Amino acid sequence: MTLPVDPQLLLKQLGAKLPAMLETLEKLVCCESPSTEKGAADTCAALLASVWKFTGVQVEFLEQKHRGAHLRITFAPRPASKRARLLVLGHYDTVYASGALAQMPFRIAGEKVFGPGVFDMKAGIVQALFALKALQQLNASLSKTVVFLWTSDEEIGSESSRKLIEAEAKRSDAVFVLEPALGPKGLFKTARKGVGEAEIIVHGRASHAGLAPEKGANAIHELALQIARLKTWNDARRGISVNAGLILGGTRTNVIPDRAKAVIDLRALRIRDMRAIEKRLHALKPVLPGTQLEIRGGFNRAPLEHKHSQELFQRAGSLARQMGLEIGECTAGGGSDGNFTAALGIPTLDGFGAVGEGAHSPGEYIIAKTMPERAALLAAMLMNS
Ligand SMILES: [Zn+2]
Repeated sequence: MTLPVDPQLLLKQLGAKLPAMLETLEKLVCCESPSTEKGAADTCAALLASVWKFTGVQVEFLEQKHRGAHLRITFAPRPASKRARLLVLGHYDTVYASGALAQMPFRIAGEKVFGPGVFDMKAGIVQALFALKALQQLNASLSKTVVFLWTSDEEIGSESSRKLIEAEAKRSDAVFVLEPALGPKGLFKTARKGVGEAEIIVHGRASHAGLAPEKGANAIHELALQIARLKTWNDARRGISVNAGLILGGTRTNVIPDRAKAVIDLRALRIRDMRAIEKRLHALKPVLPGTQLEIRGGFNRAPLEHKHSQELFQRAGSLARQMGLEIGECTAGGGSDGNFTAALGIPTLDGFGAVGEGAHSPGEYIIAKTMPERAALLAAMLMNS
């Protein structure tokens, strides 16, 4: 028999599990898993599979040619409803090369826990693991199948996992993304900017800068004019940013350059703005006679718009209050795999993972006592979604 479980009870149950959570977290953090090192990532995937292997769950290894295996873990309550599913999404890869552990070892100091990938996002995976175990132990009634997807290449753009994430999201009613929360208050990321990268390549005509300047078409001058144009597209109020982050071009000062290139970072909060920027970008025309433009790239992750997270965030807020907790929300300038799922119109709540600070830096840490709280809230959401 399964029972509805009081959120307070979940919190109590998980509060007692903190030592076990930290023990699992240590194992995971000490198994380094850089996105770009397949061997190491596969070892971590195997370890993850072993900690997720318990009664009632099905663990699948989705082997990848160049990346670590993705893991799909399915928990189907009995009687399993045929269609309804929830997706819990995260990645086990980190931005640190193997050996980083020597410089930033796993350690617990007061209420903080340090180590590579502890915050982004191994603690999130541990929270999800214990959330599911608590639901099982309390015999909680779940009406939907829950799929946990742990991928290996989020930090490098999710090339090998994107299709899988989108396919799983499409058959889910909601997606919970276990990416880190923002700041010490653990703000959920209820909106994320869409992110892209474009290249503007200018083809000009080379000539001697002193003897025959009239025969040249200066690609660098043209690029400068285009960059000045792009700069005017920035609109902080609407959350649009266009940043020329890298420029290349020229050979010598006395040569009129025939080629120049800029690499541009693009961000937007709304899908409409994203499309408008892409359109403007591909409609750019050269200013200087004799030059030609070649435009490549565009947005790679669409924005996670607030409207796709609002309802889930409100539900999470009300469950949190039943546990005596308060939650908050924020907009993130960076993208995650949650952008993919929200762009499909699937309700998505991101930043559901660990509370801490310093992602992608040697000082990254989580606040240990928040692990049971976040896990309990996730468990409550799985029961009430
Ligand atoms: Zn992450």
